[in-house]
Amino acid sequence: MRHVDDRYHGESRQHDLAVWMLGRGARTHTIMAWAKLPRYRIQALSKRYGSGEGDERRRGISPSNLAFFTSSLVVESESATLAALYFGMEAIPEQPIIDARTTLPNVVRGERLMWAYELYLSSVKEPRISLERAVLLGLEIAEGRNLYLRRCSTCPLFTLLELVGAQHTQCAQCRDSQGRVSPAGAVWSTTSAMDESA
Ligand SMILES: [Zn+2]
Repeated sequence: MRHVDDRYHGESRQHDLAVWMLGRGARTHTIMAWAKLPRYRIQALSKRYGSGEGDERRRGISPSNLAFFTSSLVVESESATLAALYFGMEAIPEQPIIDARTTLPNVVRGERLMWAYELYLSSVKEPRISLERAVLLGLEIAEGRNLYLRRCSTCPLFTLLELVGAQHTQCAQCRDSQGRVSPAGAVWSTTSAMDESA
């Protein structure tokens, strides 16, 4: 019976994660990757729990423009906060991994990623990062080839950097002279388990 119980529990978690991701607007192939469920199961769940926007939108291509994450000080600050949450909640490993799109997604990581995303949503007044972009950020930070986090040189927060972009030493909040970056989320950044100075 134990084996049957474990299997049922596993399927239940896959189902719950899929519904959770659907509710936050994830596309079908994103949910397939993380919840490890076949397309027909997600389409059935989408009909039952989806937003009613139809499956066409969910089939669309996921956003892949990395420049978005550093497109403004506000977005950069939110992205750094979310990335720090990923490390803090162990949604992604501390050491860079190869081909994160293949090796990272599974139900346990998906649940942690969603918890981190929920914390991000609750700590930012007007969240600008969709779940699809949040997933992309997680994969990119896990690989560490294009985007990476570094401790701010003057405060305990993190700064998000593009490998080919400007190599700031200060976080978005410290570089913000006009007070556009909300301090919300700072708590999560500073409590991250990741600490490069350690
Ligand atoms: Zn700073």
